[in-house]
Amino acid sequence: FGAHRPDVLVTDWMMPGLNGPQLCRAIRGAERDRYTYIVLLTSLAAQDEILAGMEAGADDYVVKPLDPFALQARLLVAKRVTSLHLELADYREKLSEKAQTDPLTKLLNRLKLTDDLESLHDRSERYDRPYSLGLCDIDFFKSYNDTYGHQAGDRALQQVAAALASVGRRSDGLYRYGGEEFLWVLPETGAAEAAMAVDRFCTAVTELQIVHCGSGGGVLTVSAGISTYLPGSGISTELLLRQADLALYGAKAAGRNRVVAASR
Ligand code: GH3
Ligand code: MG
Ligand code: MG
Repeated sequence: FGAHRPDVLVTDWMMPGLNGPQLCRAIRGAERDRYTYIVLLTSLAAQDEILAGMEAGADDYVVKPLDPFALQARLLVAKRVTSLHLELADYREKLSEKAQTDPLTKLLNRLKLTDDLESLHDRSERYDRPYSLGLCDIDFFKSYNDTYGHQAGDRALQQVAAALASVGRRSDGLYRYGGEEFLWVLPETGAAEAAMAVDRFCTAVTELQIVHCGSGGGVLTVSAGISTYLPGSGISTELLLRQADLALYGAKAAGRNRVVAASR
């Protein structure tokens, strides 16, 4: 069964070392997206055994001697049920992808961030490794919308998201954190390395050369705040995010279009 993963399994009630119900339970316990339709084959026709088998996860039964017509009828039902399960699994996967993706930028959303950040935090703590956060916020974006219109604003957000996504490492995570805020999650990255990386990310946005007359240099820029988690510091993910936000606030106050690291 492990090697072939069949859609339908017709199995004897009695086998050496394993009985039907045990097999059913093992299969149901290991099942993921694919459903195996299980038909028990029993010569006993003992009703309590059949019920025990169905309770253990079998979908149907046939009585020995095997009647090809009876089996064929069961296989038709099996086909219908397994294809329904496949459709359901497909639908579930699409739905879960939607639930963690931001529709405008196609970046991961905040919901996904919460999950990812908690597991990275636990891993960093366990393996004694640092990680960093880089919170990027577009400068003067309200005035961009006011000047060029909301649709142009949406397009700029998509361009910025794509530019940011193109410069990170594969292991780095990029999330749409808020309206015009993007969060980088940088595993295995200490403060100095994070400062260089986030600086590079911000430069990639400037290099898009999106004209913005309300911005200092005439093009769209971002400011960023960085915070770094050091294992053993006992800092929560919430506090780390707040530190990045405070550093971002510092970058804005210092004139925007720059990266500021949280003070420790
Ligand atoms: P600062 O330099 O201090 O960051 O100023 P700002 O104008 O960028 O900041 P503020 O928070 O005042 O404005 C953010 C703007 O981002 C306001 C909002 O209309 C815009 N925004 C947020 N989400 C979207 C979106 O999905 N599409 C568009 N077009 N604009 C958005
Ligand atoms: Mg903002
Ligand atoms: Mg802004």
